Amino acid sequence: MDTVQHWIAGRHTAAGSTRTSPVYDPATGEQQAEVLLASRDDVGTAVAAAREAFTSWSQSSLSVRTKVLFAFRELVNARIDELAELISAEHGKVLADARGEVQRGLEVVEFACGIPQLLKGDYSDQVSNGIDVFSFREPLGVVAGITPFNFPAMVPMWMYPVAIACGNTFVLKPSERDPSASALVARLWAEAGLPEGVFNVVNGDKESVDALLDHPDVAAVSFVGSTPIARYIHERATATGKRVQALGGAKNHAVVLPDADPEFAANHLVSAAFGSAGERCMAISAAVVVGRDGDRLLDLVSKKAGEVRVGPGRDAGSEMGPVITAQARERIVGLIGTGEQQGARIAVDGRGLVVPGHENGFFVGPTVIDQVTTSMDVYREEIFGPVLSVVRSSDVDEAIALVNANPYGNGTAIFTSSGEAARRFQRGVTVGMIGINVPVPVPMAYYSFGGWKDSLFGDKHVHGPEGVAFYTRAKVVTSRWPHVEADDGRVQLAFPTSS
Ligand code: NAD
Repeated sequence: MDTVQHWIAGRHTAAGSTRTSPVYDPATGEQQAEVLLASRDDVGTAVAAAREAFTSWSQSSLSVRTKVLFAFRELVNARIDELAELISAEHGKVLADARGEVQRGLEVVEFACGIPQLLKGDYSDQVSNGIDVFSFREPLGVVAGITPFNFPAMVPMWMYPVAIACGNTFVLKPSERDPSASALVARLWAEAGLPEGVFNVVNGDKESVDALLDHPDVAAVSFVGSTPIARYIHERATATGKRVQALGGAKNHAVVLPDADPEFAANHLVSAAFGSAGERCMAISAAVVVGRDGDRLLDLVSKKAGEVRVGPGRDAGSEMGPVITAQARERIVGLIGTGEQQGARIAVDGRGLVVPGHENGFFVGPTVIDQVTTSMDVYREEIFGPVLSVVRSSDVDEAIALVNANPYGNGTAIFTSSGEAARRFQRGVTVGMIGINVPVPVPMAYYSFGGWKDSLFGDKHVHGPEGVAFYTRAKVVTSRWPHVEADDGRVQLAFPTSS
């Protein structure tokens, strides 16, 4: 059986710890590999390698960094299919979806290729007599990324291209459930000419995460995962003085107004709820149907949900794959059951789905639950599976209030043909990323990605301009080159002001 190792100082290594965790094929339910779980000492070795590499990488010219980034971009682009197969094999998502995730991650690499432009400082000439002021930004040092299972390539790519382009060195702790994409990415960085120690991967669980959070040589932590862990990461890492951006879970609502085209809205609701088996932080998990004529939309959604072809991600005919683990499937099935017990109506039931030839795979079929209220568990919990809850609402203001009463604030969308309603919605919701007739509004790499409220702890979103700001700190220089003879030579104790 394959053992997925760490990548430290430019090579794969088993380091010291012998603890392991199984890596499953979610389509068959069988273990296909194991991954090493780093000890505190192993993390110390990776951070030491990154710290040593920082000395020279932080001093490397912008031209050198840009060349490495362009080379890395070409290599990832050439290996999209290989990456997608690794992702699909361990995560379970369909190949087209896996390719899409690499493509969206690659866009952050492309953004980071423009680092000379992004790191340009400001300059003010003659702010006072003979005095100029200018500013520039410097890297922080060793920065860490801790990432979730659901986007094993894209989410780390939200972080390390920008961090490395800014002159930092990086230690990635990917999800232990699907670690192989990160191992391939590490080799591609080496092939691209990135010096040893600039990019490191430690595989692991809580022990390795805690070691990163506590390590005095880690300057900043980027985290993406569930809300309880995000909150914990933020508290523990800020307590040791680190910069932290910790992105958490989500409950994304799509509000459908009566003036929306039902066919268009139903297609997009089904795509956004069941793509990647609902295991996306930007998945639509609650449809808020406004007005009395919601049944027509519900019928369309139910019909289309029932037609989704579920099967192994590697099969070309599959539109939706399994969920990540047997425990995840049990949790999702259990939550659907609570919906039924608490009075909701199961319009499409994916609990009994069996995929022929894959009876032990972790499959749950698309599920649509109608007549959900905000007090039910299916509404309150982040299900993170192929379940769409339908909530009814009487008008757009009530729908906005409902979205805002939810503790999460990652993404939301509205379907309407009214510009006035859309504008009221975009200005009224307390959510970070908003789609207007776009159900999964993941911002392009040159904008920043981040939610509000319980969906993000910290004050900077990832990638885009906020990513550059997160991974750098500013210096402002006030400069004078005097003619000593022209100086009046007086001592002046008053606070300096400009003249
Ligand atoms: P998770 O929180 O279980 O794990 C995320 C990372 O934290 C992993 O690397 C894991 O090893 C580590 N971890 C888990 N438990 C830990 C603990 N007790 N102490 C320290 N570290 C721990 O999340 P997941 O199940 O891998 O991913 C799904 C979650 O991620 C969902 O809640 C989803 O909404 C969220 N997510 C959010 C975004 C976003 O942008 N806001 C993006 C993707 C996923």
